[in-house]
Amino acid sequence: MPEFNCDFHIHSKYSGGTSKDMELPLIARQAELKGLHVVGTGDALHPGWISHLKEHLIEEDGLYKTKASETRFIIQTEVEDDRRVHHVIMLPSIGAAEDLSSKLAKYSVNINSDGRPNVRLNGEQIVGYVKDEGGLAGPSHAFTPWTSLYKEYNSISDCYGSNLRHVSFLELGLSADTDMADRIHELQDVTFMSNSDCHSPWPQRLGREFNRISVEELSFSEIVKAIRHESGRKFTLNAGLNPREGKYHITACTRCYTKFRMTDAVKLKMRCPECRGLIKKGVADRIEELASEDSPRHPSHRPPYMHILPLAEVIALAMKINNPNSKKVKDAWDKLVSEFKTEINILLDEPTGNIAKANKDIAAVIDKLRRDEIHYDAGGGGKYGTPSLEKSKENYYSCGQKTLKDW
Ligand SMILES: [Zn+2]
Ligand SMILES: [Zn+2]
Repeated sequence: MPEFNCDFHIHSKYSGGTSKDMELPLIARQAELKGLHVVGTGDALHPGWISHLKEHLIEEDGLYKTKASETRFIIQTEVEDDRRVHHVIMLPSIGAAEDLSSKLAKYSVNINSDGRPNVRLNGEQIVGYVKDEGGLAGPSHAFTPWTSLYKEYNSISDCYGSNLRHVSFLELGLSADTDMADRIHELQDVTFMSNSDCHSPWPQRLGREFNRISVEELSFSEIVKAIRHESGRKFTLNAGLNPREGKYHITACTRCYTKFRMTDAVKLKMRCPECRGLIKKGVADRIEELASEDSPRHPSHRPPYMHILPLAEVIALAMKINNPNSKKVKDAWDKLVSEFKTEINILLDEPTGNIAKANKDIAAVIDKLRRDEIHYDAGGGGKYGTPSLEKSKENYYSCGQKTLKDW
């Protein structure tokens, strides 16, 4: 069965804090350069975005494409429920999105103004509405401290109740991976998704996490089968940031980003002694609380999880340049992608011997990436972690004294 790279969760220009460049023709083109075959549309309940979808997209087997590109779009949105839990929603058509939007409108004050609307319904009710449209829903970035399932509940069933059997996926988010989430026994049957949740179309963001799926052909129903791991259709790979690069991996201050061990954070009543800012529990500590196993137990359907970096960050590491947005990095990126077709091909698949002929330093870093030998100064409190070729000491606040301790 052929394999396809899919990023099932993005946002449009109509969500808060997003780039005005988030329009379909550009997203489709950037997806080609990244090496993504399927991308979520984002924000499919928003009337302005629905008009944009109708203007640009042609339907094909429950997925959509623009005139100029083979990139497929899956109709997708995200909503925030009445307890500030986020849910990813995928739908079989633009018509289903319009229908769902009109049904949810009476529970939402901002469905016409915000790409990611707040809906005064609980998780169970939201899944009910989505199921009636022939769609799928599941938790977004399930472990993050502000707006996720596990910041609010200790069990997935507490959120979805009688509709839990209709929830077949969970999005890991940038600060978690399969090894972490497979310590929670109740998630054994759930498919883990690694999506970018991106707010801009550039390849450092779009597809920074993606899923590789094996299906007969690209259609909405085949994707649903893969998510439910039915009839041999399945996810064959999750690829995404090392959780240590995620913004909420370590428990840390949201103002000055000082990192804390959980026991110290509790002693300090979640107030930062450095700046009085709020300390937010990191995903690593939250999973430690939820874990039923000391080490991950992977079910047989679980694919490997590969830690990747955006190619621009790989190039910046190789060239010892701090800013991955610099012109030098951009020029090297253009050269490599024009030679080796897509960013994902370069990161995952192209033999590094071939890449070394173009640039041996970059090939060496890609070798390290594929062997999972990149180090990270971990992120937390809303600040991304930073990759590095050298192992550095992790700096934690400790009650009484500041100490340098090995991670
Ligand atoms: Zn979200
Ligand atoms: Zn602070």
